[in-house]
Amino acid sequence: MSIFDSSISYLKQLLDEKTDVLITTHYNPDGDAIGSSLALYHFLLSQGIEAKVLIPNELPSFLHWMPGVDQAAIYASNPEYGNALIASADLIFCMDYNSLSRVKLFTDELRDSDATRIIIDHHIQPDNEFDLIFSVTGVSSTAELLYQIINEAGYSESITKQMAECFFVGIMTDTGSFSFACNRPETFQIAANLIKTGLDVEKVHRMVYDTYSESRMRLLGQCLGTNMKVLPEFATAYIWLTKEDLEKFDYQQGDTEGVVNYALSIQNVAVAALFTERGDRIRVSLRSKGEFSVNEFARTHFNGGGHRNAAGGDILKTMPETLLWFESLLPAYSDEIQKSLANYK
Ligand code: 5GP
Ligand code: MN
Repeated sequence: MSIFDSSISYLKQLLDEKTDVLITTHYNPDGDAIGSSLALYHFLLSQGIEAKVLIPNELPSFLHWMPGVDQAAIYASNPEYGNALIASADLIFCMDYNSLSRVKLFTDELRDSDATRIIIDHHIQPDNEFDLIFSVTGVSSTAELLYQIINEAGYSESITKQMAECFFVGIMTDTGSFSFACNRPETFQIAANLIKTGLDVEKVHRMVYDTYSESRMRLLGQCLGTNMKVLPEFATAYIWLTKEDLEKFDYQQGDTEGVVNYALSIQNVAVAALFTERGDRIRVSLRSKGEFSVNEFARTHFNGGGHRNAAGGDILKTMPETLLWFESLLPAYSDEIQKSLANYK
Protein backbone atom coordinates (compact mmCIF):
# COMPACT_ATOMS: atom_id res chain seq x y z
CA MET A 1 0.00 0.00 0.00
CA SER A 2 1.22 3.47 -0.76
CA ILE A 3 -0.11 6.89 0.08
CA PHE A 4 -0.42 7.46 -3.65
CA ASP A 5 -2.41 4.33 -4.56
CA SER A 6 -5.68 5.96 -5.56
CA SER A 7 -3.94 8.98 -7.10
CA ILE A 8 -1.66 6.75 -9.16
CA SER A 9 -4.55 4.76 -10.61
CA TYR A 10 -6.30 8.03 -11.49
CA LEU A 11 -3.07 9.29 -13.07
CA LYS A 12 -2.80 6.12 -15.17
CA GLN A 13 -6.42 6.52 -16.25
CA LEU A 14 -5.80 10.15 -17.25
CA LEU A 15 -2.71 9.19 -19.26
CA ASP A 16 -4.80 6.54 -21.08
CA GLU A 17 -7.66 8.92 -21.84
CA LYS A 18 -5.94 12.19 -22.64
CA THR A 19 -4.10 12.81 -25.87
CA ASP A 20 -2.24 16.11 -25.54
CA VAL A 21 0.06 16.21 -22.55
CA LEU A 22 1.88 19.39 -21.56
CA ILE A 23 4.54 19.65 -18.86
CA THR A 24 5.03 23.09 -17.31
CA THR A 25 7.27 24.50 -14.60
CA HIS A 26 7.86 27.75 -12.74
CA TYR A 27 9.33 31.12 -13.80
CA ASN A 28 13.12 31.36 -13.42
CA PRO A 29 13.39 27.58 -13.52
CA ASP A 30 16.06 25.97 -11.35
CA GLY A 31 17.66 22.53 -11.44
CA ASP A 32 14.69 20.82 -9.82
CA ALA A 33 12.15 22.52 -12.07
CA ILE A 34 14.03 21.50 -15.23
CA GLY A 35 15.21 18.15 -13.85
CA SER A 36 11.75 16.98 -12.79
CA SER A 37 10.08 18.28 -15.97
CA LEU A 38 12.58 16.56 -18.27
CA ALA A 39 12.59 13.35 -16.23
CA LEU A 40 8.81 13.22 -16.67
CA TYR A 41 9.15 14.06 -20.37
CA HIS A 42 11.59 11.19 -20.96
CA PHE A 43 9.57 8.80 -18.83
CA LEU A 44 6.35 9.52 -20.73
CA LEU A 45 8.22 9.17 -24.01
CA SER A 46 9.42 5.72 -22.89
CA GLN A 47 5.76 4.83 -22.39
CA GLY A 48 4.83 5.98 -25.90
CA ILE A 49 3.46 9.38 -24.84
CA GLU A 50 4.93 12.36 -26.61
CA ALA A 51 4.47 15.23 -24.18
CA LYS A 52 5.50 18.84 -24.77
CA VAL A 53 7.52 20.81 -22.23
CA LEU A 54 6.82 24.52 -21.71
CA ILE A 55 9.21 26.65 -19.63
CA PRO A 56 8.25 30.27 -18.84
CA ASN A 57 11.63 31.93 -19.42
CA GLU A 58 15.22 31.16 -20.31
CA LEU A 59 16.98 28.57 -18.15
CA PRO A 60 20.44 29.08 -16.64
CA SER A 61 23.32 28.05 -18.89
CA PHE A 62 24.52 25.41 -16.40
CA LEU A 63 21.40 23.41 -17.32
CA HIS A 64 21.73 23.75 -21.11
CA TRP A 65 23.42 20.35 -21.42
CA MET A 66 20.50 18.45 -19.95
CA PRO A 67 18.95 15.75 -22.13
CA GLY A 68 15.75 16.97 -23.76
CA VAL A 69 16.32 20.71 -23.18
CA ASP A 70 16.33 21.30 -26.94
CA GLN A 71 12.81 19.90 -27.21
CA ALA A 72 11.42 22.28 -24.57
CA ALA A 73 9.61 25.48 -25.61
CA ILE A 74 10.48 28.77 -23.90
CA TYR A 75 7.30 30.81 -23.51
CA ALA A 76 9.06 34.19 -23.38
CA SER A 77 10.72 33.57 -26.76
CA ASN A 78 7.49 32.66 -28.53
CA PRO A 79 4.30 33.38 -26.55
CA GLU A 80 2.01 32.53 -29.50
CA TYR A 81 3.45 29.04 -29.70
CA GLY A 82 3.25 28.70 -25.90
CA ASN A 83 -0.39 29.75 -25.95
CA ALA A 84 -1.12 27.26 -28.71
CA LEU A 85 0.47 24.48 -26.65
CA ILE A 86 -1.70 25.40 -23.66
CA ALA A 87 -4.85 25.72 -25.76
CA SER A 88 -4.44 22.27 -27.33
CA ALA A 89 -3.43 20.45 -24.12
CA ASP A 90 -5.97 18.26 -22.33
CA LEU A 91 -3.61 17.21 -19.53
CA ILE A 92 -1.19 19.66 -17.92
CA PHE A 93 1.50 18.72 -15.42
CA CYS A 94 2.55 21.49 -13.03
CA MET A 95 6.04 20.58 -11.86
CA ASP A 96 7.77 22.12 -8.84
CA TYR A 97 5.28 24.91 -8.20
CA ASN A 98 2.27 25.25 -5.92
CA SER A 99 0.35 28.14 -7.44
CA LEU A 100 -0.47 28.96 -11.06
CA SER A 101 0.85 32.46 -10.41
CA ARG A 102 4.37 30.97 -10.22
CA VAL A 103 4.59 30.50 -14.00
CA LYS A 104 4.11 34.27 -14.16
CA LEU A 105 3.88 34.61 -17.97
CA PHE A 106 0.97 32.25 -18.72
CA THR A 107 -0.98 32.06 -15.46
CA ASP A 108 -4.27 33.22 -16.99
CA GLU A 109 -3.90 30.84 -19.93
CA LEU A 110 -3.40 27.92 -17.53
CA ARG A 111 -6.32 29.04 -15.39
CA ASP A 112 -8.64 29.41 -18.40
CA SER A 113 -7.67 26.07 -19.92
CA ASP A 114 -10.12 23.16 -19.73
CA ALA A 115 -7.28 20.67 -19.35
CA THR A 116 -6.95 18.49 -16.26
CA ARG A 117 -4.18 19.94 -14.11
CA ILE A 118 -1.85 17.69 -12.13
CA ILE A 119 0.53 19.16 -9.59
CA ILE A 120 3.71 17.32 -8.60
CA ASP A 121 5.43 19.51 -6.04
CA HIS A 122 7.10 19.78 -2.64
CA HIS A 123 6.27 23.36 -1.60
CA ILE A 124 3.96 23.94 1.34
CA GLN A 125 0.42 25.26 1.03
CA PRO A 126 -0.49 24.44 -2.59
CA ASP A 127 -3.30 26.57 -4.00
CA ASN A 128 -6.67 25.04 -4.71
CA GLU A 129 -6.28 25.14 -8.50
CA PHE A 130 -5.36 21.56 -9.35
CA ASP A 131 -7.40 18.47 -10.22
CA LEU A 132 -4.93 15.84 -9.07
CA ILE A 133 -2.45 16.61 -6.35
CA PHE A 134 0.88 15.01 -5.55
CA SER A 135 2.15 17.45 -2.95
CA VAL A 136 4.63 16.17 -0.37
CA THR A 137 6.76 18.60 1.59
CA GLY A 138 9.00 16.08 3.37
CA VAL A 139 10.90 15.10 0.23
CA SER A 140 14.09 16.82 -0.89
CA SER A 141 12.76 17.85 -4.27
CA THR A 142 10.07 17.47 -6.88
CA ALA A 143 12.45 15.14 -8.73
CA GLU A 144 12.54 12.83 -5.72
CA LEU A 145 8.74 12.87 -5.46
CA LEU A 146 8.37 12.08 -9.16
CA TYR A 147 10.81 9.19 -8.79
CA GLN A 148 8.73 7.88 -5.90
CA ILE A 149 5.51 8.08 -7.94
CA ILE A 150 7.06 6.28 -10.91
CA ASN A 151 8.55 3.68 -8.59
CA GLU A 152 5.29 3.09 -6.76
CA ALA A 153 3.44 2.87 -10.07
CA GLY A 154 5.76 -0.07 -10.86
CA TYR A 155 7.91 1.51 -13.55
CA SER A 156 11.29 1.96 -11.87
CA GLU A 157 12.81 -0.51 -14.34
CA SER A 158 12.00 1.93 -17.15
CA ILE A 159 14.36 4.55 -15.76
CA THR A 160 17.24 5.08 -18.15
CA LYS A 161 20.58 6.80 -17.59
CA GLN A 162 19.21 9.86 -19.40
CA MET A 163 16.23 10.08 -17.05
CA ALA A 164 18.54 9.41 -14.10
CA GLU A 165 20.59 12.50 -15.01
CA CYS A 166 17.43 14.60 -14.91
CA PHE A 167 16.27 13.18 -11.57
CA PHE A 168 19.74 13.56 -10.11
CA VAL A 169 20.08 17.21 -11.13
CA GLY A 170 16.78 17.93 -9.36
CA ILE A 171 17.79 16.19 -6.15
CA MET A 172 21.38 17.45 -6.18
CA THR A 173 20.51 21.12 -6.75
CA ASP A 174 17.59 21.23 -4.29
CA THR A 175 19.76 19.71 -1.55
CA GLY A 176 22.84 21.86 -2.27
CA SER A 177 24.77 18.71 -3.26
CA PHE A 178 23.25 16.64 -0.46
CA SER A 179 23.93 19.16 2.28
CA PHE A 180 20.38 20.21 3.29
CA ALA A 181 16.82 18.86 3.08
CA CYS A 182 18.29 15.38 2.76
CA ASN A 183 18.06 13.72 6.16
CA ARG A 184 15.69 11.04 4.86
CA PRO A 185 17.41 7.78 3.91
CA GLU A 186 15.05 7.51 0.92
CA THR A 187 16.79 10.45 -0.76
CA PHE A 188 20.07 8.56 -0.76
CA GLN A 189 18.40 5.26 -1.68
CA ILE A 190 16.90 6.94 -4.73
CA ALA A 191 20.29 8.49 -5.58
CA ALA A 192 21.85 5.02 -5.31
CA ASN A 193 19.18 3.56 -7.63
CA LEU A 194 19.89 6.34 -10.13
CA ILE A 195 23.61 5.56 -10.06
CA LYS A 196 22.77 1.94 -10.92
CA THR A 197 21.53 3.13 -14.34
CA GLY A 198 25.10 4.16 -15.19
CA LEU A 199 24.72 7.79 -14.16
CA ASP A 200 28.08 9.57 -13.79
CA VAL A 201 27.69 11.61 -10.59
CA GLU A 202 31.00 13.42 -10.97
CA LYS A 203 30.17 14.48 -14.51
CA VAL A 204 26.71 15.76 -13.57
CA HIS A 205 28.15 17.68 -10.62
CA ARG A 206 30.85 19.21 -12.81
CA MET A 207 28.38 20.22 -15.53
CA VAL A 208 26.19 22.05 -13.01
CA TYR A 209 28.71 23.54 -10.60
CA ASP A 210 32.08 23.86 -12.36
CA THR A 211 30.94 25.88 -15.34
CA TYR A 212 31.22 29.45 -14.04
CA SER A 213 32.08 32.15 -16.53
CA GLU A 214 34.84 34.47 -15.30
CA SER A 215 32.31 37.29 -14.92
CA ARG A 216 30.00 35.12 -12.80
CA MET A 217 32.88 34.30 -10.47
CA ARG A 218 33.80 38.00 -10.21
CA LEU A 219 30.17 38.88 -9.54
CA LEU A 220 30.32 36.48 -6.60
CA GLY A 221 33.46 38.33 -5.49
CA GLN A 222 31.56 41.61 -5.58
CA CYS A 223 28.73 40.05 -3.53
CA LEU A 224 31.02 38.74 -0.81
CA GLY A 225 33.60 41.53 -0.90
CA THR A 226 31.61 44.76 -0.91
CA ASN A 227 27.88 44.08 -1.23
CA MET A 228 27.30 42.09 1.95
CA LYS A 229 26.20 43.34 5.34
CA VAL A 230 26.20 41.22 8.49
CA LEU A 231 23.91 42.14 11.38
CA PRO A 232 25.08 39.98 14.30
CA GLU A 233 22.38 41.33 16.63
CA PHE A 234 19.75 39.78 14.36
CA ALA A 235 21.82 36.75 13.28
CA THR A 236 21.19 38.00 9.76
CA ALA A 237 23.35 38.66 6.70
CA TYR A 238 22.27 40.11 3.40
CA ILE A 239 23.72 40.77 -0.02
CA TRP A 240 22.45 43.24 -2.61
CA LEU A 241 22.97 43.56 -6.35
CA THR A 242 21.96 46.69 -8.21
CA LYS A 243 21.30 46.96 -11.93
CA GLU A 244 24.75 48.56 -12.27
CA ASP A 245 26.41 45.61 -10.53
CA LEU A 246 24.62 43.16 -12.82
CA GLU A 247 25.62 45.12 -15.91
CA LYS A 248 29.21 45.52 -14.78
CA PHE A 249 29.58 41.75 -14.42
CA ASP A 250 27.64 40.90 -17.59
CA TYR A 251 24.89 39.13 -15.63
CA GLN A 252 23.41 36.06 -17.30
CA GLN A 253 20.38 34.07 -16.17
CA GLY A 254 21.40 31.80 -13.28
CA ASP A 255 24.54 33.76 -12.31
CA THR A 256 23.21 34.53 -8.81
CA GLU A 257 22.12 30.93 -8.14
CA GLY A 258 23.61 29.82 -4.82
CA VAL A 259 24.90 33.28 -3.82
CA VAL A 260 22.53 33.63 -0.86
CA ASN A 261 23.85 30.38 0.62
CA TYR A 262 27.26 31.96 1.17
CA ALA A 263 25.67 34.51 3.49
CA LEU A 264 23.85 31.74 5.34
CA SER A 265 27.04 29.72 5.77
CA ILE A 266 28.50 32.37 8.09
CA GLN A 267 28.67 31.10 11.64
CA ASN A 268 25.89 32.49 13.86
CA VAL A 269 23.89 33.69 10.90
CA ALA A 270 20.42 32.13 10.86
CA VAL A 271 18.76 34.28 8.18
CA ALA A 272 20.25 35.29 4.86
CA ALA A 273 18.84 37.39 2.05
CA LEU A 274 19.89 38.31 -1.46
CA PHE A 275 18.26 41.42 -2.96
CA THR A 276 18.51 41.80 -6.72
CA GLU A 277 17.27 44.78 -8.70
CA ARG A 278 14.99 43.68 -11.55
CA GLY A 279 13.21 46.38 -13.54
CA ASP A 280 11.02 48.40 -11.20
CA ARG A 281 11.19 45.90 -8.34
CA ILE A 282 13.57 44.13 -6.04
CA ARG A 283 13.64 40.35 -6.03
CA VAL A 284 14.53 38.65 -2.78
CA SER A 285 15.92 35.20 -2.10
CA LEU A 286 15.71 34.14 1.54
CA ARG A 287 17.34 31.29 3.45
CA SER A 288 17.24 30.25 7.10
CA LYS A 289 18.74 27.76 9.48
CA GLY A 290 16.44 25.88 11.85
CA GLU A 291 12.82 26.59 12.63
CA PHE A 292 12.62 30.23 11.52
CA SER A 293 10.30 30.21 8.51
CA VAL A 294 11.42 32.39 5.63
CA ASN A 295 8.35 31.06 3.78
CA GLU A 296 6.16 32.94 6.26
CA PHE A 297 8.45 35.96 6.09
CA ALA A 298 8.33 36.02 2.27
CA ARG A 299 4.55 35.58 2.26
CA THR A 300 4.05 38.37 4.77
CA HIS A 301 6.44 40.97 3.41
CA PHE A 302 7.43 40.06 -0.17
CA ASN A 303 4.31 38.64 -1.89
CA GLY A 304 6.22 35.38 -2.14
CA GLY A 305 6.67 32.01 -0.52
CA GLY A 306 8.60 28.76 -0.84
CA HIS A 307 9.78 26.41 1.88
CA ARG A 308 10.51 26.94 5.58
CA ASN A 309 14.24 27.35 4.94
CA ALA A 310 14.29 28.66 1.35
CA ALA A 311 11.85 31.17 -0.07
CA GLY A 312 11.61 34.12 -2.42
CA GLY A 313 9.45 37.00 -3.50
CA ASP A 314 9.59 40.58 -4.72
CA ILE A 315 8.65 44.12 -3.76
CA LEU A 316 7.99 47.37 -5.63
CA LYS A 317 10.61 49.58 -4.01
CA THR A 318 14.05 50.94 -4.83
CA MET A 319 17.12 49.16 -3.52
CA PRO A 320 17.94 51.69 -0.76
CA GLU A 321 14.29 51.68 0.35
CA THR A 322 14.19 47.89 0.40
CA LEU A 323 17.36 47.51 2.45
CA LEU A 324 16.25 50.10 5.02
CA TRP A 325 12.80 48.56 5.22
CA PHE A 326 14.22 45.02 5.57
CA GLU A 327 16.43 46.15 8.45
CA SER A 328 13.45 47.86 10.07
CA LEU A 329 11.49 44.57 10.00
CA LEU A 330 14.17 42.60 11.83
CA PRO A 331 13.74 43.85 15.45
CA ALA A 332 10.25 42.31 15.53
CA TYR A 333 11.74 38.93 14.55
CA SER A 334 14.88 39.15 16.67
CA ASP A 335 13.79 36.73 19.42
CA GLU A 336 12.46 34.20 16.94
CA ILE A 337 15.65 34.27 14.86
CA GLN A 338 17.94 34.01 17.90
CA LYS A 339 15.86 31.10 19.21
CA SER A 340 16.07 29.38 15.85
CA LEU A 341 19.84 29.77 15.90
CA ALA A 342 20.17 28.53 19.49
CA ASN A 343 18.07 25.41 18.80
CA TYR A 344 19.94 24.72 15.58
CA LYS A 345 23.34 24.35 17.19
P1 5GP B 1 15.14 31.01 -4.83
O1 5GP B 1 15.55 31.89 -3.72
O2 5GP B 1 16.14 29.92 -5.06
O3 5GP B 1 14.73 31.74 -6.05
O4 5GP B 1 13.82 30.30 -4.34
C1 5GP B 1 13.79 29.57 -3.15
C2 5GP B 1 12.48 28.86 -3.02
O5 5GP B 1 11.41 29.79 -2.90
C3 5GP B 1 12.14 27.99 -4.22
O6 5GP B 1 11.60 26.79 -3.73
C4 5GP B 1 11.11 28.77 -4.97
O7 5GP B 1 10.18 27.92 -5.58
C5 5GP B 1 10.46 29.62 -3.90
N1 5GP B 1 10.16 30.95 -4.45
C6 5GP B 1 11.04 31.79 -5.01
N2 5GP B 1 10.44 32.92 -5.41
C7 5GP B 1 9.13 32.80 -5.09
C8 5GP B 1 7.99 33.64 -5.27
O8 5GP B 1 8.05 34.75 -5.79
N3 5GP B 1 6.80 33.14 -4.82
C9 5GP B 1 6.70 31.91 -4.23
N4 5GP B 1 5.49 31.50 -3.82
N5 5GP B 1 7.76 31.11 -4.06
C10 5GP B 1 8.96 31.53 -4.48
MN1 MN C 1 12.15 22.13 -5.99
